[in-house]
Parts: sequence; C-alpha cells; structure tokens
Amino acid sequence: MGTRLATFRFPDGTTLYGTHHTTTNATGGPLYRDHAEDGYRDRPCGEPVPERPDVPPAPLDRLIRVVVGYAYGDYEWYGLYDPERCEFLGPVSGTWYGYLQDQQDLVRGDDGRRHLIPEDLPVRLRVRSGRTVCGADVTDVPVLPYHRPDVVLGLSEDEIRQFDDVEDVDLLADWDEPDLCRACVKTAATRNRGWWC
Ligand SMILES: [Zn+2]
Repeated sequence: MGTRLATFRFPDGTTLYGTHHTTTNATGGPLYRDHAEDGYRDRPCGEPVPERPDVPPAPLDRLIRVVVGYAYGDYEWYGLYDPERCEFLGPVSGTWYGYLQDQQDLVRGDDGRRHLIPEDLPVRLRVRSGRTVCGADVTDVPVLPYHRPDVVLGLSEDEIRQFDDVEDVDLLADWDEPDLCRACVKTAATRNRGWWC
C-alpha cells in the first residue's frame, strides 16, 4: 500500500508527522516529532509521541484544531487533536466535509446553535422533529443552507435546483464560532475513515 508523509500543524507552530495511505485516502498516526526527507519517500522518524488511550478524552473545549496535509498533496484541511490522549481524532481525509454535506442537514436548534442532523428528504425549510448528531431532540427547527444530497430521486427539478447555490462548508473552519455545536462536529469529524464515509 502506498504511503506518504502527513503533516499536522498546531496553532503554537509545532508540527508533528504521520502517514497518509494513498489506497484508502486515510491520514493518521502514530505521530512523530521528526521526519526524514527523501523525496516522495519522506517519512516520519524517531520515537512516536506516546498515546494515552487509558486516560479520559479531553473535553470539547480543550481539543486542538490542527491543519492536516500530506507531502505532494494538493490540499490541507482542519482536524482535531486530543491533547490528553495525544491522539489525532480525524477527519482522516480532506474530502470529508463534502461527504458530510451529501448526508446531513444543518439546523438551527432551540438553543440558537447550529447542529447536524441526518438528512430528511423531501426537501423542506424546517425539520418538524428529529434528533441531532449530538443527541438533542428538536421540533420544528429551521434548516440552514448546507445539505447537498447525492441522491435526488423523487425530487422535482425546482427542488433539485435549490442545491446548486449551496457552497462548500467546512464546519471545522467555524470551530471557534460560538453558535456551532462542537459535539455534533466532533462526532462527524471522527466518524470519517477514508474514502467511503
Ligand atoms: Zn449538536
């Protein structure tokens, strides 16, 4: 399986190194402090940063948003790092938020925050009742411009056309926005496991 060097850039200027698997388009740990430069065979090296899977996970507000990329790749994306467990949580691929927009709606909850919720076709402006990804029950809440379903069978052309104007939304770019439900976004981001989800 092909691999290449992945980089994880932290807000304090630190960079850690991991691996990108080209077959699965999955990027992750273990993470290292050093890397060896060898053209397309650049790789992490030295001792891995010890993970601590037995300690409690860091609370949402202590997760660190890192910038993930890989050598000779053409894009970077935001990911989440748990500083307690010393573990990269995901998403493992930079295409994750496109898949998410295929599959989820974004709603304005009763608490005023933006939550993810599984799609509920046919298209409508409000969700009458449902449960958000973070587990909150919502009733009659407005749907925000976000969802871009990949399956539109049964919808009229007018209904399909409304998705044309929906732009790419990377919810991790909004991680510091006070109206974003971090629990929903963390769950969605850490579910991502490569090409297929
Ligand atoms: Zn939520």
